[in-house]
Amino acid sequence: MSLSLLSIFALGGLNEVGKNMYAIECEQDIVVIDCGNKFPDESLLGIDLIIPDITYLEKNKDKVKALVVTHGHEDHIGGIAYFLKKLNVPVYATRFTLGLIELKLEEHKLLGDAELIEIDSNSHLAFEDIQVDFFKVNHSIPDCLGIAFRTPQGTIVHTGDFKFDLTPVHHQYADIHKIARIGEEGVLLLLSESTNAERPGFTPSEHIVGEHMEEAFKKATGKVIVSTFASNINRVQQVVDASMKTNRKLALLGRSMVNVVDVAIERGYIQVPEGMFIRAEQINDLPPEKVTILCTGSQGEPLAALARLSNGTYRGVDVYRDDTVILAAGPIPGNEKNVSRIVDNMFALGAKVIYGTGSSTSMHVSGHGYQEDLKWMLTLMKPKYFIPIHGEYRMLHHHCLLAESVGVERENMFILKNGDVVDLEHGEARHTRHVPAGNTYVDGIGVGDVGEIILRDRKQLSEDGMLVIILTMSKTEKKLISPPDLVTRGFVFVKDSEALLRNVNKLITSTVNDMELVGRRSEWNEIKQNLKRAIGQYVYTQTRRKPMILPIIIEV
Ligand SMILES: [Zn+2]
Ligand SMILES: [Zn+2]
Repeated sequence: MSLSLLSIFALGGLNEVGKNMYAIECEQDIVVIDCGNKFPDESLLGIDLIIPDITYLEKNKDKVKALVVTHGHEDHIGGIAYFLKKLNVPVYATRFTLGLIELKLEEHKLLGDAELIEIDSNSHLAFEDIQVDFFKVNHSIPDCLGIAFRTPQGTIVHTGDFKFDLTPVHHQYADIHKIARIGEEGVLLLLSESTNAERPGFTPSEHIVGEHMEEAFKKATGKVIVSTFASNINRVQQVVDASMKTNRKLALLGRSMVNVVDVAIERGYIQVPEGMFIRAEQINDLPPEKVTILCTGSQGEPLAALARLSNGTYRGVDVYRDDTVILAAGPIPGNEKNVSRIVDNMFALGAKVIYGTGSSTSMHVSGHGYQEDLKWMLTLMKPKYFIPIHGEYRMLHHHCLLAESVGVERENMFILKNGDVVDLEHGEARHTRHVPAGNTYVDGIGVGDVGEIILRDRKQLSEDGMLVIILTMSKTEKKLISPPDLVTRGFVFVKDSEALLRNVNKLITSTVNDMELVGRRSEWNEIKQNLKRAIGQYVYTQTRRKPMILPIIIEV
């Protein structure tokens, strides 16, 4: 057995929650784990999505053997369509995960070209230098896998997103025995997710949500409106069950809810009795106490069904006094404000709103293991080396403290950044190199074409607007032929700023006239630069604003 070089790195998912992508490289093989996306914050104006930068993989195209997907959440599959356009490698995922990937590929018209291979926890993959085994884990979406990579140097384990749930919905038990067996055989390095590494205790079981859901349904006197992630199919099942027990029909609102529930029914991940579903148009045909609405928008997305119900813009469906609104999902950090606005609106409409976690009526439990869950995984795997993944720096940091508390050596842990590489040689790990990693922005149909310069312009335009200066100049004499024209957008209200614009006009004329232009070459550029500087300064002293100044010269 030769001890070849083995490398492990992340192209996304470290120091962030989102766009997960990890890679294991061993001689002739690179196996990629997950390819997620992340949604931009408000500073990234106009950006629709962020996906990982895969420059390194493109450069090593021939070695990339597979994309193995742990589960179907956006932060693990949202970048796959873009990835496959660059690197059309086989994609391995479980039945439900593949269903969600297919929805994405269909949107991008890639379904015909992709090589999608269904696996389950018993599958075994063999590449040239890496072999792969799987184990089932609990999370907030069905059919999740952890992965064991068998390499000439030892076993590398990637947990995927997980918690331990001993009473899962729909009998989706984790492979605890198998996890223990992998650990017993020896694990060289563990990559484990860190989302809840700051939260003490064990994650509660999903089944308590079912109990709370049923109670709330029994108490409800009007419609029940539940919002959750479409992908949280176990919770969707609980809404179906509670509706059945209280004789309600169920309407699904929101495209992704309809699509994902379709996939789940078709592939056998959810059981819905015949005649349970009604269409949105039928809601008003039934008495309110006979209706459940299950909708998208639990993160406060302004265009999703829940937000539109809350501000009265969902055509044909109104929220009435005595309706019950249940938010059965925790807000992802950053979305709290939008979610609160919906809660406010729903209360204002007279609805009863059940939201928030931790209370005895809680309608949400996390799918990510708390500290004790994470310690269990570390204890079962007993790795020599440990790399916390999937989280902000503080989460990675806390995860290391947990690892230390259960006996992993401090010097055998690596808190990495995206692109940092851990190399293993003769069973010894060290972090010395870096591969390119970063954000690729998606805006409309453009992928990677919007960079820092465009974003800086967008920021300036959004903050102080623009001032366009149009000069008509004679080509031969290099003189202004008529007074300059000014066009402004988002800068000042023109009617109230006549004096200011008149002065700007005068300043433009004098700036141009003062320049020695005849007989020189790059004069147009020089005029533009001088105008930007002079007008920029003047406007700033008068208004304390810095609009984008765009001089346009028309030669006649
Ligand atoms: Zn997940
Ligand atoms: Zn995740």
